[in-house]
Amino acid sequence: MTTIRLHNSKTRKKEDFLPIDAKNVRMYVCGPTVYDRAHLGNARPVLVFDVLYRLLRHEYGADHVTYVRNFTDVDDKINAEALRRQKAGAPGTLEDLIHERTEETIAWYHADMDAIGALRPNHEPRATAYIGQMIAMIEGLIAKDHAYAAEGHALFRVRSYAQYGALSGRSVDDMIAGARVEVAPFKEDPMDFVLWKPSSGEEPGWDSPWGKGRPGWHIECSAMSYELLGESFDIHGGGLDLQFPHHENELAQSSCAHPHGGFANIWMHNEMLQVEGKKMSKSLGNFFTVRDLLDKGVPGEVIRFVMLSTHYRKPIDWTDKKREDVEKTLARWHELTFDLDATDPNEFEPRKDFLDALKNDLNIHLALTILNSSISSNPQSLLDHARFLGLMNDTARAARKADTLSIASGSGPSAQFASLANRLDRLRKDALITMNFCEVDALKKSLQEAGIEVRMSKLGVELIAGPNLDRSKLEALL
Ligand code: AMP
Ligand code: ZN
Repeated sequence: MTTIRLHNSKTRKKEDFLPIDAKNVRMYVCGPTVYDRAHLGNARPVLVFDVLYRLLRHEYGADHVTYVRNFTDVDDKINAEALRRQKAGAPGTLEDLIHERTEETIAWYHADMDAIGALRPNHEPRATAYIGQMIAMIEGLIAKDHAYAAEGHALFRVRSYAQYGALSGRSVDDMIAGARVEVAPFKEDPMDFVLWKPSSGEEPGWDSPWGKGRPGWHIECSAMSYELLGESFDIHGGGLDLQFPHHENELAQSSCAHPHGGFANIWMHNEMLQVEGKKMSKSLGNFFTVRDLLDKGVPGEVIRFVMLSTHYRKPIDWTDKKREDVEKTLARWHELTFDLDATDPNEFEPRKDFLDALKNDLNIHLALTILNSSISSNPQSLLDHARFLGLMNDTARAARKADTLSIASGSGPSAQFASLANRLDRLRKDALITMNFCEVDALKKSLQEAGIEVRMSKLGVELIAGPNLDRSKLEALL
């Protein structure tokens, strides 16, 4: 049996994956700060580690893998959003509004990540449920002189941990020179980072030995991973943007709190989803959400397929061209397997070359290529392998069937219609600027030839299936 090999960011090498305990393989992935809808970049770690979770469950047994992904539900961005709502006249105390916002965001997150076919982790701890454990961990660090209290804060003494910087490959002096550190009068050293900070007025806060306050972000993951996975576990994941300082700080705190543990054996980092060469992020404002795409009629499994087609250690751009290509591929796969029943996943064994691709540091691109090139001659195998990757699940298949029926009977909008209508609308908007309507006219003509009535108005584009709808012509346009 081929061994799973994973690239370890800490050693910068691909390594054989040897779990600490094959009866309980443990993975922790940093989850979202719940102040707003997940943007498409936030979906990347979810999807990458979802495939790894599926692979580990296959390899070690579904009951022998524990996957933890947290919710950061205490954060200044959440407070700022709640305050903004309060100022805009929303009723309730700041605490009520914070609670409302985090609950709402977690529900959105679940709905959006379910829609792209991600399995729920075994545990989704919320930081606010582990405040006592965080305080205890900080007290332990202070007792060992790895941390100190100052002016209502607790700070980690970075120079007390000689290996600091090893994970991200930086020296402490480089980090200071890079001025990535916040200077504050109460710090012994500018490198020291916050474990606990004071809360004033209506800010969320808990009683602690250092006064009323709230935890820093990094201690949350150290405390929650310790509580749920223990002092050593197998894999720690997240986006590359978290490697420094977040993961470096988690590692320092946990290694000092539990010096015999070692924390995570393998660190994995996904590269960024980019927009024109820059990381997609809320702060740069260059983002769109998973929900934006779903609302435009892009099926969740199309988002999943596009996002998984690029290796997780390479940057990726979302383009309309990729979406269109994947829509065509999936339309064909669904057509080939329309009348088949999926094999019970417990009785299905993937092909060796497909599995080996995944075991080679998650070469999902190769696994998809294998599916597309050779398995389409065996639709049952295509369906079962696609489902192994979280594609063509029951929801996606039911949606396709509903679409096909509504198209065939000429009634109602469908995901395919919505996607074509969006494309035509976009072309039309571009044409109004360039005053070149060739592409608009060409698409309109092709739609009409496929038996679709096209209505365009100031409000947008409406496509209506006519009695002579030609499905193969329609699909050629997708
Ligand atoms: P945040 O809520 O910003 O802490 O992000 C949640 C997760 O999404 C983390 O694992 C981040 O590393 C990841 N992430 C954020 N932006 C991107 C992006 N543009 N591409 C890929 N992953 C991202
Ligand atoms: Zn974390």
